[in-house]
Amino acid sequence: MAVAPTTELMYLKGVGPRRAEILAKRGLRTFEDLLGYLPFRYEDRIRFAKIREIAPGQVYTVRAKVLGGSLVRYSRARGGMYHLLVSDETGSLPCKFFHGQYLDKKFKAGQGLVLHGKADLDPARPGRIEMINPEYEMLGEDDTDSTEVGRIVPIYEAIGGIGSRTMRRIVYLALGQFSGEMHDPLPPEILARYKFPSRREAIQFVHFPPATESIAALNSFRSQAHLRLIFEEFFFYQLSVAMRKKTAQQQPGIAFRVREPAIREALKRVLPFKPTDAQKRALVEIAVDLERGVPMNRLLQGDVGSGKTIVALEAATIAIENGYQAALMAPTEILAVQHSLAARKIFARAGYRVELLISGLKGSEKKAALERVRSGEAQLVVGTHALLEPHVQFMRLGLVIVDEQHRFGVLQRKELMDKGTAPDVLVMTATPIPRTLSLTLYGDLDISVIDQMPPGRVPIETRWSAETNLPGVWDFLRREIEAGRQAYVVYPVIEQSKTAESERSLKAAIVEFEKLRSTIFPNRHVGLLHGRMKSEEKESVMDQFRRHEIDILVATTVIEVGVDVPNATVMVIEHANRFGLSQLHQLRGRIGRGGEKGTCILIAPKNPGDDARVRLETMVRTTNGFEIAETDLKLRGPGEFFGTRQHGELGFHIANPIRDFELLELARREALALVEPPEAEPARRRLLARLPVEWQRRYQLASVG
Ligand code: ADP
Ligand code: MG
Repeated sequence: MAVAPTTELMYLKGVGPRRAEILAKRGLRTFEDLLGYLPFRYEDRIRFAKIREIAPGQVYTVRAKVLGGSLVRYSRARGGMYHLLVSDETGSLPCKFFHGQYLDKKFKAGQGLVLHGKADLDPARPGRIEMINPEYEMLGEDDTDSTEVGRIVPIYEAIGGIGSRTMRRIVYLALGQFSGEMHDPLPPEILARYKFPSRREAIQFVHFPPATESIAALNSFRSQAHLRLIFEEFFFYQLSVAMRKKTAQQQPGIAFRVREPAIREALKRVLPFKPTDAQKRALVEIAVDLERGVPMNRLLQGDVGSGKTIVALEAATIAIENGYQAALMAPTEILAVQHSLAARKIFARAGYRVELLISGLKGSEKKAALERVRSGEAQLVVGTHALLEPHVQFMRLGLVIVDEQHRFGVLQRKELMDKGTAPDVLVMTATPIPRTLSLTLYGDLDISVIDQMPPGRVPIETRWSAETNLPGVWDFLRREIEAGRQAYVVYPVIEQSKTAESERSLKAAIVEFEKLRSTIFPNRHVGLLHGRMKSEEKESVMDQFRRHEIDILVATTVIEVGVDVPNATVMVIEHANRFGLSQLHQLRGRIGRGGEKGTCILIAPKNPGDDARVRLETMVRTTNGFEIAETDLKLRGPGEFFGTRQHGELGFHIANPIRDFELLELARREALALVEPPEAEPARRRLLARLPVEWQRRYQLASVG
């Protein structure tokens, strides 16, 4: 059967309905989808080493036969070690597999196989070389021309039981059956300019590279074929960003009055303190946007505690003074409530009415609140996702503010915007990604940065302490509380897990709360806050903490985002090695918000593992959000860093904005050249007209033209 890009996988050789279903769960439905599922690394199995030549410390691929194997059980370990002995015509090689009990029936004497791994000296028998946990592929009889040996072998991530080897077979056979056209979406000028291979060539190449290609270039995704495919993803992404920006700029927006004396007065009146220079700069940039008759689309970036809230409220002041409503959306109820409290206090003198919309509201209460939003009586409306519900209607929404925007999707932001008519938009984030990167990545947003902390902040001291030191830690807490301060104690889980083995040993908030309350701090007010409490309960606890009716708040990461109680100066984080770096930074941002020195104590073992060590040491060394973000990026990679939702939304499969930053910039320049100058219009139309519908959808290019 001839295979076309749209052929469903079910009909491919070696797939069938059952595997097709598994692949579909990963979003792979057609031949084209399959081709986009690229190997994540490559192995050089062209040159097989002879067993006699193997030296310790090096990585080898060996083609051998099984001599025999046995499972060695240890008295206390539940599993065992599987010992395998293989040989080629030059010698024999012992291999060991930890927890290898499942291998017991797998290897039969005489079975041909390819092993790949690092050779080491057996510590128990000096001079003897072995391989620990090598990768292996069984060889069939007909495997001489195979996808497995004698070539550079692509390694795919397994999908639900379909292993790398099967994936290779499927892709190989499908490519062999494919003889039709493969549409190349990139303009020929670009292909020529960068000497990129055609899409067809690139696809063939990345799946089954020729033996002449450098393995290092392949594994770092730097082959011309990889570069082309990465560029392609960036290019269409940047094209959609540039077109979105252009469309937005052609839309008439609200031209707010900003310079009138009455408005200047109002802005001064609501300011509770002298803004920092960085805050002033951000505010001027926002005011200029608000004044223009084009909708603002601005990102306000600033580390935790840098004071973004007041800047947002000043922007809201301008909207309100112009007779419009402003909406402020936050990702959690605690944060929404806190913003509404802060706004009420700050807006009290100006007399603006603040409304809070969260899902916990009761029938009549809710009805009245919605009515105030609809009639325009509510001037600033603060809320969670609840703001997005269809029955929330504004009288005259002029400004949309989204706090911690990385917690929302682009579509949610859009939903809120649609409740007004081309309102101005300000999104805020404490995720300090490098400015050059955010400029390129969020090219449709203008960016303001608050890179300065409010005055009088005493730097937080961070210590890393072992669990055995806890009594001393509690003594320290006791002294701080006697001096009138408050504290947080953070745990990774709410309840002890009965199922997950890895979590069974973790201290849990509920249990530790009881201990702290009854035995360690019997004379103090200890409160508990976690994500499974009802909203009213959570709110009442936060309220008590704010009013200092609680001295010590035992919590989970619900307090991670934005909670602001300046009198809290101490934070103890138990099992700190279990938290991500950005998460620790966010948590720590809850203290040291007043003029008193803050102390953060990370409870973690002395040897927490390599990554955890870097995380903890970074926390102890610095409070600089950019430095922390960069380390976090290195540790986790961009996918996790940006959050899967956001990463997926950007539509990148192989492209990696950090690793491939130069290509990202290149793609941006090429995309702008097709969008900005009026004379490029016909070329752009032609390009989009030829683009398959799935591609237009993938990059959200369909609606714009
Ligand atoms: P974030 O940027 O994390 O949202 P906030 O807006 O919550 O930070 O501000 C952190 C704390 O700093 C708040 O208590 C706020 O009142 C205070 N603050 C902000 N700006 C200033 C300033 N210019 N002078 C003094 N205190 C400030
Ligand atoms: Mg904030």
